[in-house]
Amino acid sequence: MNFIKIISIIILISIISCKTTQKPNIIIFLVDDMGWQDTSVPFWKEKTNFNRIYKTPNMERLASEGMKFTQAYATPVCTPTRVSLISGMNAARHRVTNWTLRRNISMVKDPVGLQIPMWNMNGAQPIDSIENSIHITPLPHILKNNNYKTIHVGKAHFGALTTPGANPLNLGFEVNIAGHAAGAPGSYYGLKKFQNKRRNEKIWDVPGLEKYHGKDIFLSEALTNEAILEIDKSIDDKKPFFLYMAHYAVHTPIQGDSRFEQNYLNKELDSIEAKYASMIEGMDKSLGDLMNHLNKKGISDNTIILFMSDNGGLSAHARGGEKHTHNKPLKSGKGSLYEGGIREPMIVKWPGKTKKASTTNKPVIIEDFFSTVLEMAQINDYKTVQNVDGISFTSLLKGEIEIPNNRSFFWHYPNNWGGNGPGIAAGSVIRKGDWKLIYYHLNSNFELFNINKDIGEFKNLVSSERDKLKELSKELGNYLRKVNAQMPVQTSTNTLVPWPDDKKILNVY
Ligand code: CA
Repeated sequence: MNFIKIISIIILISIISCKTTQKPNIIIFLVDDMGWQDTSVPFWKEKTNFNRIYKTPNMERLASEGMKFTQAYATPVCTPTRVSLISGMNAARHRVTNWTLRRNISMVKDPVGLQIPMWNMNGAQPIDSIENSIHITPLPHILKNNNYKTIHVGKAHFGALTTPGANPLNLGFEVNIAGHAAGAPGSYYGLKKFQNKRRNEKIWDVPGLEKYHGKDIFLSEALTNEAILEIDKSIDDKKPFFLYMAHYAVHTPIQGDSRFEQNYLNKELDSIEAKYASMIEGMDKSLGDLMNHLNKKGISDNTIILFMSDNGGLSAHARGGEKHTHNKPLKSGKGSLYEGGIREPMIVKWPGKTKKASTTNKPVIIEDFFSTVLEMAQINDYKTVQNVDGISFTSLLKGEIEIPNNRSFFWHYPNNWGGNGPGIAAGSVIRKGDWKLIYYHLNSNFELFNINKDIGEFKNLVSSERDKLKELSKELGNYLRKVNAQMPVQTSTNTLVPWPDDKKILNVY
C-alpha cells in the first residue's frame, strides 16, 4: 500500500514539474491592413457604426479571454512594421522605412518637393553583406535556437526579391507556408491558383499551396488548414511552437469570401464594402478555427495568442465615399502618421497570466513584441546584432507595475506610401502622454494634438502650446540624432530637412 502511495506521489510530482517547466506555445496572429474599427470588438470608448457592420465573433471571444489594447501602435505601412516586429527596432533605426519589393528599387516615386534618402529598401537580412538592408538577429532565429518549432504561415514581406531576407527560412523559420517578397496575393481564390494572370507578372503569385490550386477555397482558409497541420506536427515532435500566422487578408485585392459575402449584401452594403467585410469575417473564422483546434488538442491553456494588425485600414482609395473610410473616429488610414494610419486593434490572451476580458489604455508599439515574446518564452540569454528599442509589456499583461506613463513613442517615415490622399507623407512623430507632435519634412511644419481630448486630430495646438512644442521637438530631435535617422532633401533648397528642434524652425512659432 505504502509502495503504491509513494509511486503515485512520484508520478504526480513528475506531472506537475513537467507542466511547470513546459514552455508556452506562442501565436502571433497578424492581420494585414486591418483598421482599428474593422471589427465588432469596440476599441474606442463607444461602439461605432463600423463595430456594428463587421462581424468578428472570434475576436470577441479572444477579448473575453484576454486583454484588449486600445492604444496599440504599428507603423503606417507593411514592411517597417514587420521588420520592427522581428528585430525589436524602431523604424528610425532600422531604416526599412517603407514597403519593399524589388532589389535596390524604391517602389514609390519621391513626393513633390522632397528627395527621399537611400533607405534600406532591401529590408531585413540575416547577414551583413546585402546592400541597402538592415542586418538583424531575427526573433524566430532566437526562438528556434531555444527549441521552439518556428512556423511561418502567410505573408512575409521582410526583404526584397532575390535577397536572403525574402525567404522566411533564412530568418529563423523552420517552416514557410506561402511567404515571400511580395506584400499582396495575386488572388485569394484557389480556383485562380492564388495568381493574377492579367497582371502578367509572377511576382504576386502566392508560392506553395499547389494542393489547393483549382479548388474552391479562400486563401485565408487554406493558410489556416496548413497552420493546423504544422501545429499537429509540433505536438507529435513534443516541441513548443511559435506560429507566425500572418494573413494576406485583408490587403488588396478586395475579393469576396463566398462563405460570408451574401450576408453583407443582404445588409445592403455596396459590393466592395460587402467583399471587404467578408474578408474580415473570413480572417476572424481563421482565428476561431485555430482556437478550436487548440481546445481540441488540449493545449489552449498553454498557448499565448497575440492579435495585431500591421498598419491602419485602407481609407485612401475610398470607393463609394464615406462608407469605405474604415478608421473613424481616427483621422486618415494606411500610409499616414495620423492615428488612422498607425493605431491597431490588438488583443493578447496569456492563459493564467492575463485577466480575462480586461482592457488597457496604455500605449504599446510594434517593436515591443520582440522582447515580450522572448520573455513569454522564458528566454533571457540571447544576443542580437541589432540594438533593441522595444520594451516588454509582459508586466502590463500580468497587471503588475506598468510601463512608465511618461514613455515616449517615435515614428519616422521619410517616404510616402504611394496611395492617394492618406493625408500626409514624409514626417516624424513623437507621442508622449496625451500629446502627439507631427513634424512634416516637406515644409518643416508642425501639428500638435492632445490625443486624449482630440482623438480625431482636428485641433492643431502649435500656437497655443509653445512650451509643449519646444519640449517635444527637442526630444524628437534628440531621438532622431541618437538613432541616426535619415532625413530627405528639400528640393527647393537642395538641403537636408532640418532636425525638428532646429532653432530657425522653432523661431517661426
Ligand atoms: Ca499592411
